[in-house]
Amino acid sequence: MVTFEEARRIILSCVSSTGVERVHLLDAAGRVLAEDIVAPWDMPLWDNSAMDGYAVRSADCTKTPCTLTVTGFLPAGARADGLLVEAGSAIRIMTGAPTPDGCDAVVPVEETDDGQQLVTLNQAVVKGQHLRLRGEDVQSGVCFARAGTLIRPPEINMLAGFGLALVPVFSRPTVAILSTGDELVELGQTPGAGEIINSNTLSLAAAVQECGGIPRIIGIARDTRESHREKLREGLQADVLITSAGVSAGDCDLVRDILEELGTQQKFWKVGIKPGGPTAFAMHGTTPVFSLPGNPVSTMITFEEFVRPALLRMQGLQRVLRPLFKAVLREPLTKKPGKVQIVRLLLEREAGRYYATSAGNQQTAILKTMVDAQAIAILPAESTSFAVGDDVDVHFYSNYIERES
Ligand code: AMP
Ligand code: MG
Repeated sequence: MVTFEEARRIILSCVSSTGVERVHLLDAAGRVLAEDIVAPWDMPLWDNSAMDGYAVRSADCTKTPCTLTVTGFLPAGARADGLLVEAGSAIRIMTGAPTPDGCDAVVPVEETDDGQQLVTLNQAVVKGQHLRLRGEDVQSGVCFARAGTLIRPPEINMLAGFGLALVPVFSRPTVAILSTGDELVELGQTPGAGEIINSNTLSLAAAVQECGGIPRIIGIARDTRESHREKLREGLQADVLITSAGVSAGDCDLVRDILEELGTQQKFWKVGIKPGGPTAFAMHGTTPVFSLPGNPVSTMITFEEFVRPALLRMQGLQRVLRPLFKAVLREPLTKKPGKVQIVRLLLEREAGRYYATSAGNQQTAILKTMVDAQAIAILPAESTSFAVGDDVDVHFYSNYIERES
């Protein structure tokens, strides 16, 4: 058995990116840059106005009020070539328009009488006010987005602003999802006596998508060696293989055995975590293979704590663990020493602090508690009891949504 922390270390030391591709900006959101991106030109490319108003010479405007002759108009999109602000004059200018020669300040229209032929300024003017200078945002040649950066709308905006339509990103891994067990029927079939619907495949596919992977549903391996062989072989074609169930010590638990037969190298089996203890991890060449326990709650928790970080790392992210923060317990908690305990929680925020209560019955078979959970507490292996008011380490689970009070 390995500890929770060792399991994560082993996994993250085994996985790596499956490649780099160039994608259009429209498809780049949520992907990770594979190269540093350098500004091809100054941003902005020319000095321009930050306000709708008048381009002036500040030396003309030392007294207030002062009146200037309006000698031109520069809307956004216009060119300032050949235009000059001469002594005693002003050029009407719109936000974003290039500033004309001679101008060293812009006076917002709100600080004037809005005149067309003559304009009267009613406030003092400071040299340089309301000007945006060439290169003040990013200078040509400066790296504005590093490899390993998550591409969000701001990155997309800047990449687009520099005309970079295709960006190098790490590939999204294909992730084979295989359920095992004779008790399973597929969604759409009616389960008979002793049968249940293969819900894990759907929830794993959703979880894979949520962290950028491409799910490939392999279906169900029945509890025979032949069926396992066929389905596992198929699953090993993907960049990652995730199986659920059949990994404990039961009579029909064949997954590890057949994986070994197919040439995978087991890195660990059994982790000091509850729920999720029977989890196994192996490598087949460069393909990571996660064998998760079948109980839906255990499957989702082990995906969250072990598979999600691996999929994010494969897509080029370095910091792949959800940030931990402290929540104050509103109920006592007890546990046995020896294993990290995962507790499903509800959170409430009061005066800038998070307070935690149990999301419900914490037994592994209770799925509803997982449905309700907003966050997960990670209780250290050696801890045994927590009192009301104690801090625990928690992280959000999936997309955190604050509940209506
Ligand atoms: P096992 O690991 O095979 O002992 O399965 C543990 C529990 O998870 C059993 O109650 C199974 O019926 C349940 N289970 C296994 N596979 C799935 C699945 N694909 N979808 C939903 N429940 C499952
Ligand atoms: Mg089974």
